[in-house]
Amino acid sequence: MARRPLVAGNWKMNGLTASIGELTRIIAGAPDVAKTDLMVCPPATLLMSFAAAAKGTPVLIGGQDCHALAAGAYTGDISAEMLKDAGASAVIVGHSERRQYHGETDRDVADKARAAWRAGLSAIICVGETEAERNAGRALDIVASQIRGSVPDDADGATTAVAYEPIWAIGTGRTPTNAEIVQMHAHIRAELAALLGVKGRDVRVLYGGSVKPGNAGEILALSEVGGALVGGASLKAKDFLEIVRAAPRKV
Ligand code: PEP
Repeated sequence: MARRPLVAGNWKMNGLTASIGELTRIIAGAPDVAKTDLMVCPPATLLMSFAAAAKGTPVLIGGQDCHALAAGAYTGDISAEMLKDAGASAVIVGHSERRQYHGETDRDVADKARAAWRAGLSAIICVGETEAERNAGRALDIVASQIRGSVPDDADGATTAVAYEPIWAIGTGRTPTNAEIVQMHAHIRAELAALLGVKGRDVRVLYGGSVKPGNAGEILALSEVGGALVGGASLKAKDFLEIVRAAPRKV
């Protein structure tokens, strides 16, 4: 099954108005990577200006989280409809930092994914085990249970991507071995097939966790790796574009 790779940059709580220069450089470098879907997820304060700058270019703009409801008395929260209105085409849901620091459960993540679809956004649903869970031999079970709890059973490749992000690899410079990545991505593919049937076959499974220009080519070439979710290395246009260029044309 050929799927177009997706490389998405998660800027997290980084970036001020002056950071538009990095986006401009990413846009300038994007035409020669036109075989890959390329997304930047800035903080909410920059969404509108980034979406305006990226309009008409191959660069997609995404949010980093959304509330499950469309509107209401939820101080500080942002709905999927608001992200859409600001110019986003996708949103990351269930990032481990949201699960860890904001207590989000699989159920919350599934509700947010549905909210994204309701607003006309696609959802990047994150899953991944802690180091203790991996060391205890529970990584496959943990991720399977997150998939079953966080991915609504009407997901498909147009509305949804799944990002496998081992928590211990995020921002640490450490990555699983290639064999561990291949094993987990095959496992996720099997779980998606069990949950979604044939409509799940186009769902891209991204790898995330310390992807850098130096390891992107190797990781992105692995079986069932449908792209990458990139944190730290997405903040510099040069590094991000090098990662995007490393993506194979079809996965
Ligand atoms: C992330 O948090 O989604 C991530 C992959 O971060 P990093 O690339 O910095 O490890």
